[in-house]
Amino acid sequence: DITVIGSNMIDLTAYVDRMPIEGETIEAPEFSMGFGGKGANQAIAAARLGSDVNFITMVGNDDFGKQQLANYESSGIRTDGIGIGHQASGVAPIFVDPTSDNRILIIKGANKELTPAVLDEKVDLIKNSKLIVLQQEIALETNYHAIDLGVKYGVPVLLNPAPANEDLNIDYVSKVAFFTPNETELATLTGMPTNNLDEIKLAADNLIQRGVGNLIITLGSKGALWVTEGHSEIVAGMKVKAVDTTGAGDSFIGSFSHYYAAGEDVPTALQHANQYAAMTVTKKGTQKSYPTKEELTDMLVQ
Ligand code: ADP
Repeated sequence: DITVIGSNMIDLTAYVDRMPIEGETIEAPEFSMGFGGKGANQAIAAARLGSDVNFITMVGNDDFGKQQLANYESSGIRTDGIGIGHQASGVAPIFVDPTSDNRILIIKGANKELTPAVLDEKVDLIKNSKLIVLQQEIALETNYHAIDLGVKYGVPVLLNPAPANEDLNIDYVSKVAFFTPNETELATLTGMPTNNLDEIKLAADNLIQRGVGNLIITLGSKGALWVTEGHSEIVAGMKVKAVDTTGAGDSFIGSFSHYYAAGEDVPTALQHANQYAAMTVTKKGTQKSYPTKEELTDMLVQ
């Protein structure tokens, strides 16, 4: 099984004709509420593909928190790792424009209560898993503790450094099996430009030299770049008509985790993750756009 440690949010998505400017109020044609948060999204993607997923997270002490729990139960995620915090649930107002670009705010709420001590309480779930999956919508200290637990119990760790945080301690990154920034996050961490493939490869080498094992850099519609010591390889993305790319990165990480934990080698798991993520960008919404294993099969034959 897989243990995802991370955030949960309620996404409040406005589909806008254009972004409002400062001081301006405009009408938007459409609104939708959905389940989100990077940790939750990745957990849901892996579970929809059939992985046995432990999700360690803190929901709020409110109606949103109850809805979150019901969502995980109905998606087949194990809920022993889910705590109820004292604060309100995390929420994320999202704005998507007609070109499908997005702008996102996050208010973390109860996610701030996911401390290193909470992980110690859940250590039995962690030490028996095949892969620990982390993102950066919770405290860095909690992620560092999760990485230490992974090292202690011999469980490989995937760290998805999203959203970008320049305070991330590179010493910890060298302890993870997989480090998966997108182009922007790679630029933030290295202080190097990542505007084209040559620049991306130079920045990637910089991290490899600092001790990172496997680097997987997502490249949007172009797919993903896999870099290890002495080897780099592009795994091409699928050509689809993108409608809403919100949550594409999370669907990629969640599905890669599923395929890798199921025993696939890295390039095969990346190819399958590209396919899964491409299908999610053809539909609106975040988790709503994540197909089950059966739905994925149907979508791919069309
Ligand atoms: P993020 O959302 O973190 O910026 P990316 O935009 O790089 O992540 O997308 C993550 C993955 O989703 C890509 O590696 C690719 O597999 C898939 N993807 C994203 N956008 C598209 C697209 N327009 N067409 C096909 N696949 C896409």
